[in-house]
Amino acid sequence: PPLLLGEGLVKTYPDGDVRALRGVSIAVAPGEFMAITGPSGCGKSTLLHLLGGLDRPSAGEVVFRGRPLSDLDLDSYRASEVGFVFQAFHLIPTLTALENVQVPMFAAGIPVGDRAGRARRLLEEVGLSHRAGHPPRRLSIGERQRVAIARALANGPSLLLADEPTGNLDSASQREILDLLSRLRADRGVTLVIVTHSAEVAAEADREIRLRDGLVVG
Ligand code: ADP
Ligand code: ADP
Repeated sequence: PPLLLGEGLVKTYPDGDVRALRGVSIAVAPGEFMAITGPSGCGKSTLLHLLGGLDRPSAGEVVFRGRPLSDLDLDSYRASEVGFVFQAFHLIPTLTALENVQVPMFAAGIPVGDRAGRARRLLEEVGLSHRAGHPPRRLSIGERQRVAIARALANGPSLLLADEPTGNLDSASQREILDLLSRLRADRGVTLVIVTHSAEVAAEADREIRLRDGLVVG
């Protein structure tokens, strides 16, 4: 059975009367790496937000492990089952790398005494133990995205949702991040859904879903 299903997803934004999604159905298998591609404005980010429970569909349903999100506690779904990675990292500038990785642990109720050790192991997993005490401004752009990936893994999610994760990176850093993501998939069995403009990223995926004007076209 699929890990995640989108069934007939429609999203209309109230302001501007935009139909961002017009009936999108997709199935994501456990452990799969899926790329979502398409021109700017075709609904990729909207789809990712619905899959991650950041926003609700106007019609249709997202189903996780056989249960509709509308029946689940969305806060605990977002905190424990899904890790989010963004193009712009969204790290907190006044916190160190180690502290940034601990941020999602509050929402999941990880005991205070366990957080730092857990964050250290995650930084080690992304190859940044030696940067634990640095704030984001003292890290390279590629290192910032690795911290953001460690943060996305903070609560052991089954699913990583990434919106243009390599959009700000040069090609060498993009390669590093892609290698890191495939290693995490192999080691943890984490499922990857990545919105991307990059043909190189899409070529690495098991499957590419192409959107156009709010519909799946390939
Ligand atoms: P993509 O990620 O493919 O660039 P988006 O999902 O961001 O596409 O946007 C799809 C459409 O929905 C676009 O026309 C965009 O302008 C519109 N849109 C996205 N977010 C909002 C919002 N919060 N309010 C109104 N319109 C939005
Ligand atoms: P990108 O860097 O891909 O452009 P955005 O800055 O557009 O990403 O963020 C995508 C959406 O997700 C925004 O609507 C933002 O409010 C929301 N968002 C960002 N970080 C979080 C988070 N940690 N938890 C929940 N929603 C978030």
